[in-house]
Amino acid sequence: MAKPAKPPIDRIIKSGLVSKPAAPQAEPHFAGKLIFFPGWCKKCGLCTVVCHSEALKQHKDGTPYLADAKKCTLCSLCWRTCPDFAIVKNPDEKGEDDGAE
Ligand code: SF4
Ligand code: SF4
Repeated sequence: MAKPAKPPIDRIIKSGLVSKPAAPQAEPHFAGKLIFFPGWCKKCGLCTVVCHSEALKQHKDGTPYLADAKKCTLCSLCWRTCPDFAIVKNPDEKGEDDGAE
């Protein structure tokens, strides 16, 4: 299956905000404050390393998830660090945890 196209660069540059949820083929994973795009994630772990509050954790395969939304300060480090634009801020966030272990 072909790798999904990345979101338009102008949408990324605007501080990680998204103007609409995402292209359907990107299979976004809404996790409260953040939106993850597993299809673009190369599981490098950079986002988890730069997170100052340990709000992010990684699944065994390296995919990050928001383990504790209360710890997330929306500092923007994770989505600004991700080389693949695989994390963005959720403009409709309600602060829920990812719920995935
Ligand atoms: S926005 Fe900041 S605090 Fe929240 S998960 Fe990303 S790096 Fe951690
Ligand atoms: S920095 Fe981006 S590509 Fe790397 S693990 Fe995090 S979401 Fe995936």
